[in-house]
Amino acid sequence: MSDPNAPDNTSEVREIRINPIVPSESVLVATARSMRPKKAEELAPRDTRKHVETCPFCRGNEHKTPPVILSWPPEGDWQIRMVENLYPVLGDDREQAGFNFGLQQTIDGYGRHEVIIDHHEHGIAVQDMAESHLAALFGVYQARMQQLFASDERLKYVLVFKNFGPAAGASIPHTHSQVIAMPVVPENVDAEVKNSAAYYAKHHHCIFCALIDEALTFEATIYDRNSGAVRRKINVGQYVVERGEKFIAIKPFASRYEWEVHILPLAHQADFLDVRGEDLADLARVVKRTMARLDAVIGGAQYNFFLHSVPHGGTDSKHGVPHGAYAASYHWHLEICPRTSIPTGFELGSGLFVNTINPEQAAERLRAVDL
Ligand SMILES: [Zn+2]
Ligand SMILES: [Zn+2]
Ligand SMILES: [Zn+2]
Repeated sequence: MSDPNAPDNTSEVREIRINPIVPSESVLVATARSMRPKKAEELAPRDTRKHVETCPFCRGNEHKTPPVILSWPPEGDWQIRMVENLYPVLGDDREQAGFNFGLQQTIDGYGRHEVIIDHHEHGIAVQDMAESHLAALFGVYQARMQQLFASDERLKYVLVFKNFGPAAGASIPHTHSQVIAMPVVPENVDAEVKNSAAYYAKHHHCIFCALIDEALTFEATIYDRNSGAVRRKINVGQYVVERGEKFIAIKPFASRYEWEVHILPLAHQADFLDVRGEDLADLARVVKRTMARLDAVIGGAQYNFFLHSVPHGGTDSKHGVPHGAYAASYHWHLEICPRTSIPTGFELGSGLFVNTINPEQAAERLRAVDL
């Protein structure tokens, strides 16, 4: 496998790209090898075994997990199983009231933290799961989000995410996702929600839909004002990585991670809970094919993915978001962030992400994979 971080020396790029959704977030795209301010991560191999006798998440060891929340299918051998997290980051302790003292402000750390065992096979990767299985998994995500929102109006956001492989921080090698229900809207989501609402107020359409339209249709050549030479050819269609009937996978123009890809519904939809059961199969197909492309190019993708959907929860103006208010301006999506390099002091200290691969070329390489 060639070094996936190897720059293409045909056109070196060094520029700061502004995230169109959250302009305060920017990315330094620096593809010249000499410029590269960070080093490629040497990935520890991930566990690919099918069954591990001692693994609490493998079949036959059900008694070793915390209490089960749901199993799918409900009868017979389970394919997907959801349990409580043994080490929750937020707890069900309603006694922990928030406090304010000077500049120290906290709010109640109340929440839920649960684990979804994605598949009975220990080390199976998403691209190797059956489409019907993946569709069922997304259905489980929806069902649990729905239940959690209904269970307590203080829960404002349910974050569903997956860490896959040691490089992505997965502490348990058995393939799994996590669900964290929290009493606040996470800052990343909040920034997207607020900025897209501001865009909507000005332009009367959804910025995510505008990005999809650009990705599908836009082409332009920019000439130098003085010399008339071609400064840049823009063919935003080049950002499309995979397309289904209802969903699309796009390489963001301002990708924070070299192989970052976002998956969105083609038709406007703010809430992941509104995806109809029959459309989950198309979502599964686009996710599976995108993962297969990433895996082929990176040579064993280890990644984090997370769902960004419109927040729920009441009318609490302090922390909550009135759900209906953002139905027209927000657009749910799945962000896939493969981990191929270690963030450095430059990134942590500046807040500026450094991407060493030109996103246009990354998209091209992903599209070129023969599936
Ligand atoms: Zn296992
Ligand atoms: Zn939209
Ligand atoms: Zn997002």
